[in-house]
Amino acid sequence: MKKFDVVVVGAGTGGCLAAKTVAEAGFDVCLMDRKREQDIGDKICGDAIGKHHFDTLGLEYPTGKELERKIVGVKIYSPDMETAIDVKGEGLHGYLVNRRLFGQRLLKKAIKAGATFLESTQAVEPVIKDHFVNGVLARNMETGNKVSVFGQVTVDASGFSAVLQKKLPPEIGVDANVSREDVAICYREIREVKEQIAEPDFCEIYLNQKLAPGGYFWIFPESGTKVNVGLGVAMSKGFPNPKNRLYDNVLSIPFFKGSSTISGGGGHVPTRRPIDCMVGNGILIVGDAACQVNPIHGGGMGPSMMAGTIAGEVIIKALETGNVDRENMWSYNVRYMQSYGAKQAGLDVFRLLLQRLSDEDLNYGMRYRLITEDDLLNTSMGEDTRLNITEKTRRIFRGVGKLSLLKQLRATVHLMKKMKTLYQNYPVSPEGFEEWKKKMQDLIEEAENL
Ligand SMILES: Cc1cc2nc3c(=O)[nH]c(=O)nc-3n(C[C@H](O)[C@H](O)[C@H](O)COP(=O)(O)OP(=O)(O)OC[C@H]3O[C@@H](n4cnc5c(N)ncnc54)[C@H](O)[C@@H]3O)c2cc1C
Repeated sequence: MKKFDVVVVGAGTGGCLAAKTVAEAGFDVCLMDRKREQDIGDKICGDAIGKHHFDTLGLEYPTGKELERKIVGVKIYSPDMETAIDVKGEGLHGYLVNRRLFGQRLLKKAIKAGATFLESTQAVEPVIKDHFVNGVLARNMETGNKVSVFGQVTVDASGFSAVLQKKLPPEIGVDANVSREDVAICYREIREVKEQIAEPDFCEIYLNQKLAPGGYFWIFPESGTKVNVGLGVAMSKGFPNPKNRLYDNVLSIPFFKGSSTISGGGGHVPTRRPIDCMVGNGILIVGDAACQVNPIHGGGMGPSMMAGTIAGEVIIKALETGNVDRENMWSYNVRYMQSYGAKQAGLDVFRLLLQRLSDEDLNYGMRYRLITEDDLLNTSMGEDTRLNITEKTRRIFRGVGKLSLLKQLRATVHLMKKMKTLYQNYPVSPEGFEEWKKKMQDLIEEAENL
């Protein structure tokens, strides 16, 4: 039996930041992961992260071997490959990182701040007493021995597996209901190609509903002639196998002729708004376990680190006041929802539209720039989306019988704004939660039926 102030499950991007923040304030923190120490950070990922996240968090930019490549923007291709939209600008400057080395840096920060790291230690279930989470029951992956690790506050930062979140009884107060359709299943490889990608400071995203229904495929440049290539699909009924789709349709193009696999594997991304309530008595949920991911491109490293930091700050205050109940830690919900959560929620409405559009609609929408490059950049930075619908586009769309697409897009943008506002006004205490949730569910239903 071990006792700490705080137990953090999962030493990914979110968990490391949460552990570091609390440990820096002098509290006794246990950070556990089922992986061995040297494997922390080694995760199937697109490896792309915006520079602005480092600025917001006060983290040093990646350098040396951790930095694979600097990125200036994203190139988005239409399904017919006739249109390529370059979204670039300060807001999209970023990095392709060596995921393992980046993860190792974050882990070292948590340990240096004073956190005790337990490697090869798998959390099995939460320990619950008197309607509070008190820690976790864990298993040593090497010996098989089980141990209870107690903490006044527990953080579930176990990524998509959400090992604790999924096992919490309702009286704890966390509220999550994630449907399969809101999750993308992906397959990704790091490959050595014969010649460098044409524009190596751009990440390439390819929209194609036939090949990647509800998702996309990507080619991201790493150092030298290495690329990060993958394909993700929404887990809707009868979804195709993303690995087969990648091999049959992407790795078969001439660019990959003679290329070789360095590593590969699959993973899940919860591409939706955050779970409705991310805090309960004695517990907070951080990162993928709370669906803190950009619903459009699936980036979750930045938001998970932001959430880990906010969670840490809220825990410090709760421990100082000696009250770790749901109400006293509620500000974690409010602070996250008002910042990144609101942006996620707006984009989730857009995602629901994008996933329903046919390739033909996407081709038209992109060809006629219904949203301009500048407005895409602004949208990606969390500003309201502006449409570029002129009299000329209206005439063209009427001519090809696609006026309804413009209407749908207009209604979506309106709903995105409403959704964002609702999250910016997340209830300041648990009392307003049920009413807020009802409004949110109504808006999502509207978005699903547009
Ligand atoms: C194919 C793919 C591409 C992606 N591309 C990008 C991208 O380009 N940019 C980006 O920002 N994001 C990307 N993401 C998303 C990003 O990887 C995640 O959002 C981010 O890693 C979330 O961090 P986290 O800390 O919540 O979880 P993770 O980083 O997944 O960390 C969770 C940790 O918990 C540990 N763990 C799990 N279960 C247990 C348990 N029972 N007990 C103990 N430990 C446990 C795991 O070993 C892991 O170390 C991608 C994801 C996928 C799958």
